[in-house]
Amino acid sequence: MRAPVKSSASSSRAAFPAASPPPAERAAAPGVFTALAEYAHEQVSIFYEPSSGYRGIIAIHDTTLGPALGGTRFWNYPSDEDALIDALRLSRGMTYKAAVAGLNLGGGKSVILGDNRTSRREAIFRAHGRHIESLGGRYITAEDVGTSTQDMEFIRVETQHVTGLLGKSGDPSPVTAYGVYRGIKACAKLRWGSDSLTGKTVTVQGCGHVGYFLCKLLFEEGVKLIVTDIDPQRVKSVVQDFRATAVKPEEIYGQAADIFAPCALGAVVDDDTLPELACAAVAGSANNVLARAEHGHALRELGILYAPDYVINAGGLINVADELGGYSAERARANVEGIFANLRMIFHRAKEQGIPTSEASDRLAEERMRDVSRIKLLHLPSPGR
Ligand code: NAD
Repeated sequence: MRAPVKSSASSSRAAFPAASPPPAERAAAPGVFTALAEYAHEQVSIFYEPSSGYRGIIAIHDTTLGPALGGTRFWNYPSDEDALIDALRLSRGMTYKAAVAGLNLGGGKSVILGDNRTSRREAIFRAHGRHIESLGGRYITAEDVGTSTQDMEFIRVETQHVTGLLGKSGDPSPVTAYGVYRGIKACAKLRWGSDSLTGKTVTVQGCGHVGYFLCKLLFEEGVKLIVTDIDPQRVKSVVQDFRATAVKPEEIYGQAADIFAPCALGAVVDDDTLPELACAAVAGSANNVLARAEHGHALRELGILYAPDYVINAGGLINVADELGGYSAERARANVEGIFANLRMIFHRAKEQGIPTSEASDRLAEERMRDVSRIKLLHLPSPGR
């Protein structure tokens, strides 16, 4: 949704000196706002705490539907600019994911710059907690790459705007895998008229946290698995536990299969891999599966059904968001079931409108945000509304 630009970038004292910045920083400033304007991000907050060395960026893309929820990524970025771009890209994805999942949440993401193996976790994550608290609830965090449940506990000391806490929703991967499994069933229903996967062949790229649990669910339904991973140990577990056949990483695209489930990296559907694909559908957990938007059109032209990444992999977000209302594993799982119906609706709309499924899901998210923002314009007599 191209929401009106509502607020400004904010920064702490050390990130951008208030008075008379040197020429290099003056030259860099328009770049930040150009980046914000490109996808109408509402706010970027940059915070530096010198004693711990904490350097954090919180990007809030859109809060039309509610506070922005998205994880904290702790990563050694090659440059500050790379970190900013990652935060902007990821936060926008969260807006669309929450909107299509029917959650009353906006899109946000934060990044901490540095080596995520550091032992100074308390100081860094408490500084991050204070950064989050300074936003007054506009942003709620959770775990992501390089952060753990224990790190969320440090954040919790400084702010209540944190999920993924010990003893609550826990590891999101099994729930994400369950959502992907439901999404694969939605693909089967459209392609073959039945959601049964018994006897089908699924190729799984990446046997990590999500990939392993997905293989388990598919194996239990009688699916023949062809798998790959760059980590031989992870492949070994899936081969042993679920009678999967292993292939080399570069061979996975060309395997004849009913479904290809990318559960490792983004941008795996590109100009090079497209001609190799020998499947009826692409449906996996990886974020940003399409290298570019036009690859959604290319899949459609090839007759390959695509389950849009942020729709099929929303299980983890749905699970963590449930903590905001007092966590119930049963309720979270029931909401994850909805991924099946969501995908069915998106497939139907894509067919009706003659557009790729990736575009149909973007439109669905944008429609919901537009509708809700209109409702918010209704005058209510009570003060402060
Ligand atoms: P993970 O790190 O546990 O697993 C990823 C696996 O992919 C690893 O085993 C890694 O060795 C393998 N891999 C990396 N490069 C590869 C390559 N070129 N070929 C084959 N295998 C390769 O991560 P995860 O938590 O299982 O997440 C998998 C994907 O799903 C990621 O893209 C992640 O962003 C996305 N995702 C995860 C969740 C979640 O709940 N964990 C939620 C939403 C989206």
